[in-house]
Amino acid sequence: MTIFQNARFFTTVNHLRDLPPTRAEIAFVGRSNAGKSSAINTLCNRTRLAFVSKTPGRTQHINFFDMGQERYLVDLPGYGYAEVPEAVRVHWVELLGQYLATRSSLIGLLLIMDSRRPLRDLDWKMINFFGETQRPVHILLSKADKLSRQEQNKVLASVKKELEGYENTTIQLFSSSKKTGCAEVEQVVQGWFAALDAASDTQEIAPDAGTSPQ
Ligand code: GDP
Repeated sequence: MTIFQNARFFTTVNHLRDLPPTRAEIAFVGRSNAGKSSAINTLCNRTRLAFVSKTPGRTQHINFFDMGQERYLVDLPGYGYAEVPEAVRVHWVELLGQYLATRSSLIGLLLIMDSRRPLRDLDWKMINFFGETQRPVHILLSKADKLSRQEQNKVLASVKKELEGYENTTIQLFSSSKKTGCAEVEQVVQGWFAALDAASDTQEIAPDAGTSPQ
């Protein structure tokens, strides 16, 4: 049983004021069509879990899935649609920007990029914008099955090279079709939750530390 396997749809949010209080959450983001919904469904071992986000009227919403143990998976609206009305784009930028910059329970971001076209303009913007929060970004180079083994190695190496110097940024190959890369995602996300748990334990001990002699 993996940490993603129990995920259940929880709620849909269209305004920051409606964000549910959570202890810890991880968020998935990426260009529209990058394979984000497929990746969520694959990791959660479900066929249509994330497709709630594709229901008309919900594409620009933030969708929450309850993973149990007070942990949540958040499906953020895709970016880079060719034709989006200006009002929708502005709403997206505000909702996403505020969410990513201020959401204190967000412990890490999973950024999905099509392995055949990684690091496009908006991906860089996302990496730079979220990077400023000092929280980790894990990049999934999706649809890896569409590349030969040699091409996979090449794109992985070149994206790693481009992101040299970006602390807290990790990269891997992923394929929903072939279900490859799931264990690696799991390991990274487990690490984020474990770090949070360790930090919470330290905080619980902290009051005593204050009473000890200087
Ligand atoms: P989203 O818009 O980022 O949520 O992207 P989707 O998950 O809906 O995927 C977009 C398209 O890419 C769909 O036609 C998927 O079937 C296809 N796709 C997604 N993941 C994979 C994959 O791992 N391999 C292949 N070959 N196609 C994929």
